[in-house]
Amino acid sequence: MSYHLIEKYDEEATGSLTEDYKNVLATLGEDVHRDGLQKTPERIAKSLQFLTKGYDMDAREILNQARFEEAYSEMVIVKDIELYSLCEHHMLPFFGKAHIAYIPNGYITGLSKLARVVECYARRLQVQERMTHQILEAIDDTLHPQGVAVVIEAQHLCMMMRGVQKQNSETTTSAFSGQFEHEPTRSEFLRLIDSSLS
Ligand SMILES: [Zn+2]
Repeated sequence: MSYHLIEKYDEEATGSLTEDYKNVLATLGEDVHRDGLQKTPERIAKSLQFLTKGYDMDAREILNQARFEEAYSEMVIVKDIELYSLCEHHMLPFFGKAHIAYIPNGYITGLSKLARVVECYARRLQVQERMTHQILEAIDDTLHPQGVAVVIEAQHLCMMMRGVQKQNSETTTSAFSGQFEHEPTRSEFLRLIDSSLS
């Protein structure tokens, strides 16, 4: 899946973040006027606006605008949705994959919309557990399916870079509603995504 870079940035936010990050760099002992850093504060200002653009997205609106009546009632699974987010405790990246399933109850949505819902919640300051539930609730509230399952597997740079956790270890979170709260549906889903949870 591809992300669209926003080309227009909020000028006021860019200006104020640029000033803030000049101060941050100076406080860290850097010479903010040296060649390599000349444009760094402005780049950070723009990059942060991109990485938090999920605040301007509405997951329920995305799903409501792409909700189609359909009698299909088998499990729909979208595996390996790439996600990049920022942990709200350190503002360091965590990244990985989301797997989503739902069992329709009269309505389906476009598969790409589920990826957009992930993006909506990932592009902001987050904790993995909360994001997992937010994705589930947005789907539950709009498609009213017979059940929703969300599994997120991610690596957190705040743990890896700071040496809190072994390199490459992954954090897995999951949320289930409706039929996925029961067997054998839950196991079937976990088997289909081949998760370490199964
Ligand atoms: Zn963190």
